This record gives sequence, structure tokens and C-alpha cells, in this order.
Amino acid sequence: VRKLFVGGNFKMNGDLANLTKLVNQFNEAELDVESAEVVIAPPALYLLPLKELARKGIKVAAQNAHQLPAGAYTGEISLHQLKDIGLEWVILGHSERRTLFHESDELVAEKTAAAIKSGISVIFCIGETLEERESNKTEEVVARQTEALAKVIAEDDWKHIVVAYEPVWAIGTGKVATPEQAQDTHNYIREFIAKRVSQKVADETRIIYGGSVAAKNAQELCNQPDIDGALVGGASLKPEFTEIVTAAE
Ligand code: 13P
Repeated sequence: VRKLFVGGNFKMNGDLANLTKLVNQFNEAELDVESAEVVIAPPALYLLPLKELARKGIKVAAQNAHQLPAGAYTGEISLHQLKDIGLEWVILGHSERRTLFHESDELVAEKTAAAIKSGISVIFCIGETLEERESNKTEEVVARQTEALAKVIAEDDWKHIVVAYEPVWAIGTGKVATPEQAQDTHNYIREFIAKRVSQKVADETRIIYGGSVAAKNAQELCNQPDIDGALVGGASLKPEFTEIVTAAE
């Protein structure tokens, strides 16, 4: 069985005072961290203090990283450095990175392979735009994004990957995919992994949904057979995040 995974992506939001308050609220909430893996991703500047603050069972992830270990890359942070401060997780290939910062399928795959080599697990994000969905290209897009990764990692590396299916049209829009829409695509991704990698990897890899997840829709989404959790944006900046974890369980 796949352990439920709930991530909170703070994006470029918050400050030291209000994120400290938020994490304290998460610490005090009754979260069953035995049955769910809970990971929050604050802006890079706050990784270290919030990692110190978060209680056992709430892990901290970076939102991005550079693929090379060190060098003249002004403004970047390496996976080696994330590992150095004790992080276990990084989000890679978020649609905002792909679109606004021009990260290609190949670059995201390269970063993911580098993360695994550095001993960091990856929340690997994929998903189609509205235009792609409307032209029936959803499966083609998620297959292409997943194929780029399958090319550069070994079968055994997949245990360090959580796939986050985030349809771009559902991100920050309040327009959540229906449980059926999400389930269909998750099932397609799982079958793709079964064919391309192995049935074992397909059975064991967690595929989580992201895009306007809230306390009111988390349970129905996570009840779907191929949805193993959620990646939450806006609602992760509120105490509601802990309700999402509870609803998903
Ligand atoms: P929202 O939950 O704000 O739609 O964001 C989803 C997301 O992008 C998580 O990575």
C-alpha cells in the first residue's frame, strides 16, 4: 500500500513572522503523521528556521534547486546545499518553473536525477495547460513529461519520486479537477509507468493531485484509487492545511 502524501507549497509567500505562526499552528494540530507523510515547502530563505521549528513528522522541502553541485550560478541553490542542511525533499518541475522560468522537460528530468544522486527525494510535477486539455492532449503531455524522467533514472530510483499531477488550469484558479478527471489522468500516468518502467514501480509510486485542493474537496479526491495525496498551494498557507491532511486520511 502507498502511504498518503500531503505537501504544502507556500510558493513565494509569507514572511518569517507569519510562517513561524503558521508552522506553530501545524505543530499544535492533531495530525496523524503515521498514516500520512506531510511535507511543507517554504521559500528558500525560510527552509532552515522552519525545519528547526516543525515538529517531528512534518518535513520541509525546497521548491527548486540547481542541478550542479557548486559553481558560478548566481542566485541558485544546489541540491548538495539542501542536503547539507538536512532536507529530504525538493519540488521540481512545478508548472510555474516550467512556464515562467522556461524549464524544459529535459532540465526538470536532469535536476530530478541529480537530486536522487544527492540523496534527496523529489516531488516531480507534471500537468497540462487548459489549451492542451481542450485539444485532448492531456495524456500526450503527461506521458512526454514522465518519459523525460524515465529516460534518465534507473528503476530503483523511482522509490525516491512522488509524482504530482497538477493540471495548470486548476492551479490557483479555484477550478479544481473533478475527482473523475483527476482519477482518469492518474490512472493513465500509473499505466504509463507500468509499461515504461515496471508494474512494481507503478504499484508503489505515489501519484498526488494538485490544483485548488481545499478542505472541502480533499477527501473525495483522495478517495480515488489512483490518487495518493495532494499538493496544496493557497490553502497550505492557512490552518486549513491540517484539515486537508485529516480529510485525506
Ligand atoms: P493551489 O492549491 O493554490 O491551486 O496551487 C496548487 C499548486 O500549484 C501546488 O504546487
